Amino acid sequence: MKTTELFKKKKVLSYEVFPPKTTDDAHTIYEALGGLQGLCPDFISVTYGAGGGTNCAKTLDIAAAVKKQYKIESVAHLRGLDLSKDEVLHIIGELNEKGIENVLALRGDAVQDTVPTGDFKHADELIAYIRAHSDLNILAACYPEGHPESESLAQDIAYLKRKADAGASQLITQFFLDNEDFYGFLEKTRAAGIALPIQAGIMPVTNRKSIERMVKMCGIKLPKKFMRIMDRYEHSPAALRDAGIAYAIDQIIDLLAHDVDGIHLYIMNKPYTAKRIYEAVQNIISA
Ligand code: FAD
Repeated sequence: MKTTELFKKKKVLSYEVFPPKTTDDAHTIYEALGGLQGLCPDFISVTYGAGGGTNCAKTLDIAAAVKKQYKIESVAHLRGLDLSKDEVLHIIGELNEKGIENVLALRGDAVQDTVPTGDFKHADELIAYIRAHSDLNILAACYPEGHPESESLAQDIAYLKRKADAGASQLITQFFLDNEDFYGFLEKTRAAGIALPIQAGIMPVTNRKSIERMVKMCGIKLPKKFMRIMDRYEHSPAALRDAGIAYAIDQIIDLLAHDVDGIHLYIMNKPYTAKRIYEAVQNIISA
């Protein structure tokens, strides 16, 4: 099923997972997927090479398992920067063979061990290419606080419009910790003529080091309310985890009250976190 169809019927809830780095860890992803199965995901998306490495085969294998083994709709991420046009054609063939109908088309970031091919300098070029060569449903990324490389949010939204015009049919945001940033972004996006469904990306923060790394990488603002939690509980792992989950739940309830199109949870392969959040919001999301 093309995941964009889901927005016509409901508020969409999805989870993002990543392929384990080593083959020794391979089983962990299947344990995570098993844990997510009971949490009514509308789809699960599988990252590709996030944080380095080119594990496209793993991405496709996991996305195929999500669909076939776990009977959940899947989205495979694809990063254009280090792929050639021929490689993308090959991947489209594999996606078709594996029955995967949805792809999140990204530019990606230059990382060690990969060389940009020059075929896809920005996500809009990859989106247009996939659109021209397949019937896949295409998702794209967006940034409520603006992408860290962009001159301004307005400029970033102008480029986002190009992704929509090139053939993206649904958007997922970078995670954010202040909902007001999302509401401001939504208003500007709609004013720019982008009418696609937009899922709010929420990352339950359960570890100070990992959030500091992500914030540096993604240019996310840290609200005072959030920092008070980090400062107070950073040395009590269970308290920090519970407070991080509660913060995410609070964000989600407010987003649902604002009639958001859907929620995308960056759950970092932790089904326990997803379960706690799902149990807290399941009645609200379906109301
Ligand atoms: P683009 O849309 O190309 O934007 C990148 C920058 O270029 C922005 O500043 C934008 O304003 C500007 N720009 C856009 N189009 C043009 C244009 N035509 N001309 C000039 N400037 C332009 N990374 C991974 O490696 N693997 C993943 O699986 C992954 N999953 C992600 C999932 C989500 C939901 C999100 C939000 C991000 C994900 N990322 C992933 C990170 C992403 O690859 C980076 O944020 C990357 O820096 C930008 O990718 P993009 O597709 O948004 O790029």
